[in-house]
Amino acid sequence: MADTRFKPVVALVGRTNVGKSTLFNRLTRSRAALVANISGLTRDRHYGEGRVGEHPYIVVDTGGFEPVATRGILVEMARQTAQAIAESDVVIFLVDGREGINAHDHEIARLLRKSGQRVLLAVNKTEGMRNHADLAQFHELGLGEPHPISAAHGDGVATLAEEALAALLADRAAQASESSVDPDAADAGEGGAHDHRIKLAIAGRPNVGKSTLINTLVGEDRVIAYDLPGTTRDAIEIEFERGDRRYTLIDTAGLRRRGKVFETVEKFSVIKTLQAIEAANVVLLLIDAQEGISDQDAHIAGFITETGRALVVGLNKWDAVNQEQREWVQREYDRKLRFLSFARVLNLSALKGQGVGPVLKAVDAAHAAAFAKLSTPKLTRTLMAAVEQQQPPRKGIFRPKMRYAHQGGQNPPRIIIHGNALDAVPDSYRRYLEGQFRDAFKLAGTPLSVEFKSSH
Ligand code: GDP
Ligand code: GDP
Repeated sequence: MADTRFKPVVALVGRTNVGKSTLFNRLTRSRAALVANISGLTRDRHYGEGRVGEHPYIVVDTGGFEPVATRGILVEMARQTAQAIAESDVVIFLVDGREGINAHDHEIARLLRKSGQRVLLAVNKTEGMRNHADLAQFHELGLGEPHPISAAHGDGVATLAEEALAALLADRAAQASESSVDPDAADAGEGGAHDHRIKLAIAGRPNVGKSTLINTLVGEDRVIAYDLPGTTRDAIEIEFERGDRRYTLIDTAGLRRRGKVFETVEKFSVIKTLQAIEAANVVLLLIDAQEGISDQDAHIAGFITETGRALVVGLNKWDAVNQEQREWVQREYDRKLRFLSFARVLNLSALKGQGVGPVLKAVDAAHAAAFAKLSTPKLTRTLMAAVEQQQPPRKGIFRPKMRYAHQGGQNPPRIIIHGNALDAVPDSYRRYLEGQFRDAFKLAGTPLSVEFKSSH
């Protein structure tokens, strides 16, 4: 049944100044999707989305790799980089074609060879370099054929990305035919809209209560856990039912099963969290009410909005906070997570099982909103009523003219407005329309995208 395929992860590795961030920007450039900079959490590591043909993948810039570091922050960076390598499906190891190989490169190469990870060796800054002898020296690293590229100019970059993905996609195809997974089901559209099962990711930083909640949710139910094929690491899907609703929980927590109970065994993983959020239809973001709202909570919330997933926020451990703390955490929430205004916020205690029912109801409602069918006549009526109530502002001699609206997608719902001179519509007016559509269609719990298409 494993119809969840996590996007493959490509990690960029190399010493500082070889061009990793330049390559990162080129691979992820002009992607509307997800480009997040999680500073603080992982010290300037970047996560973005690249695409080869139809196939999206996640790119991780591992930042400075310091394999010989011995202390403090450098050790932590080395550890994080090692984690990124372990969690990636393929590594692009970048070296500098102008400077040649140095001791750091040798050390990184040694670690990569030892890791057993799939590695592509890219020699950067080779624009205008005609001398192939310069390239030959890189064979010495023992990582196969060097791929000459210029991250700055783009030469060879597309081919490199294709090659990185080709091997992975071939692997996946082989796995899919080995297991009994129906390959069509595996590709069944973004978010599996036709499926009645709600794909739910429970996200949050360590210790907010994710595994406690999962055990509470599934404890009373028949539980089936699947190890998902399709990546080098196994991920877990857990199915459970409530009433006539079927849910598939997608693991973000690094859960492992011990007997009947799930527990978190791994450290927090940004990559897993990202992959699970993207693979879900609805995300339940858990926050520890005892701790208030941290930067890390805000970062995870930022990912969720960038992916456009439906969202419910749970303030957990409500049993353990007094009235004063409750008011404080609510104020913090309003201040730091204002951008989540579309999402419902509920209090719960995963430990005591309090408030769990309402949370699931909110998840159902968010899912329904994310997949709502918005009819063209009603959209257009709503649009016309909104315009009548408040005209879009003039820009110069132009008054934007809105003609009709139709739905362009789901999860999140996209509303496309057609008309003339719509380029001139300011963002404040777009937000006004968004609010009107939200009210008219009762779309709570999902982001909503309102887009304009001018005929001239
Ligand atoms: P990082 O530290 O590995 O992330 O490296 P950066 O991406 O910051 O690049 C380091 C320097 O190399 C910058 O000055 C870039 O402009 C330069 N650089 C990156 N790619 C190329 C390239 O393809 N050709 C040349 N000539 N310079 C490059
Ligand atoms: P995870 O790392 O997000 O999976 O968090 P865990 O589920 O392992 O929970 C971390 C700690 O918080 C454990 O000691 C739990 O018993 C505790 N905890 C989880 N939910 C609640 C709750 O609703 N109330 C209280 N008081 N403690 C909780």
